[in-house]
Amino acid sequence: MIPSKIYKIVIIGGGPAAMGAIKYYDGSKDDLLLISNDEIGFFVYNSIKTHKTTDGLFFADNKSPDYLIKEYKKLLFEKKINILKDFVKKINKCDNYFEIIGSKKVYAEFVIVCTGMNYKMLNDFNKFKNVYNLAGTFNNLKNKNCVVIGGRNSGTSAAIYLAKISKKVYLLEKNNKLPCKKKYFDRLLNCKNVDFFCGVKNIKIFSHKNLNISKLKFFFDKDSKEINVDFIFIYIGLIPNSNIVKSICKLDVNDYILINSKNETSCKNLFAAGDVTGKLSQIITYHGDGANAIYWIQKRM
Ligand SMILES: Cc1cc2nc3c(=O)[nH]c(=O)nc-3n(C[C@H](O)[C@H](O)[C@H](O)COP(=O)(O)OP(=O)(O)OC[C@H]3O[C@@H](n4cnc5c(N)ncnc54)[C@H](O)[C@@H]3O)c2cc1C
Repeated sequence: MIPSKIYKIVIIGGGPAAMGAIKYYDGSKDDLLLISNDEIGFFVYNSIKTHKTTDGLFFADNKSPDYLIKEYKKLLFEKKINILKDFVKKINKCDNYFEIIGSKKVYAEFVIVCTGMNYKMLNDFNKFKNVYNLAGTFNNLKNKNCVVIGGRNSGTSAAIYLAKISKKVYLLEKNNKLPCKKKYFDRLLNCKNVDFFCGVKNIKIFSHKNLNISKLKFFFDKDSKEINVDFIFIYIGLIPNSNIVKSICKLDVNDYILINSKNETSCKNLFAAGDVTGKLSQIITYHGDGANAIYWIQKRM
C-alpha cells in the first residue's frame, strides 16, 4: 500500500549537520520534515559547554553555545520547518521511498541521516542513578563528589568543568598517564579540588537499594581505593549512531556511515552528514556537510 504522505526530504537529527542542511534548503516547507529525539542542538550545546570553561574558545567563530542554539532556533522558525520529536529506530528502503520507523511511521523520497555520536557506557553502569555522560548538562553540584571516568581530552575537560561547580572531583584513567593534551593537563593541575588516578584496572560501584550510588571502589594492579561519590560521568569514547541504517547501507569497520563527496551513502537516495560519517568532529565541518547533502538532493529532485 502506498503511504498517503511521502515527504520529499526527511532529516534525522537536530545538531549542526541537520542545521547546515536546513540552512541550504530552498523548497516548500511542506516537503521537508526534521526528526530529532532531543532538543535542537542538545548534544553540541552540552559538549561545547565543558570545553568553553577550559578553552574559552569553542568553535570556529568563537561564539558561545547559547548563541549557537539561538541561531538554530531562529533558522527553524524563519523557515517554518516542521519538526517531529521522536526517536527513529530503523529505516527501511521500499521501492521509491523510505519507511522511517519511530513511535510513528514517516515516509520520504530522500533521507539525510545526521544522528551524530553517543558516548559509550561502561559495563552495566547505566542501571545506576546519577551516572551520566554530559557534564555540561549540570550547572551546580555544590557539596557533591563527582567521578569522571576517562582522562582523554573530553574527560579531562569535564573534570575541569566539574571542579568549578562541585565539591570534589576524582578523575580515573586506565592508562598509566592521562592521555589528554598538555593544555588540559596543565589546567587540571590548577584545580585544587581534583585528584586524578592513572592505571585504574577495574571499577566497582556500591549503591543503595534504590540504585542511588554511594561509594566507588577502584583497583590498581596491586592495591585499591574506596571513595564516596554522588555523581559519575563517563568519558570513554564515542560511537556513531548508525544502527538505524546498518541494514540498508555500508558502514566502515568502526560503524561510521560510508559516504562519497556528495554525502551519498551506498543506498540510493539515502544521504548522511556529520559525526555519524566520522570526519573531523567540529561544528564548522558539519554545517558544510549538511549543506552539501541537501545541495545534491535538490539537484536530483
Ligand atoms: C566533549 C565534546 C566537546 C566538543 N567541543 C567542540 C568544540 O569546542 N568545537 C566544535 O566545533 N566541536 C566540538 N565538539 C564536536 C561537536 O559537538 C560535534 O562535531 C557536532 O555536535 C556533530 O554534529 P552532528 O550534527 O553530526 O551531530 P549531533 O550534534 O550529535 O546531533 C545529532 C542529533 O541527532 C539526534 N539523534 C540521534 N539519533 C537519533 C535517532 N535515532 N532518532 C532521532 N534523533 C536522533 C541526537 O539526539 C542529536 O540531537 C565536541 C564534542 C564533544 C563530544
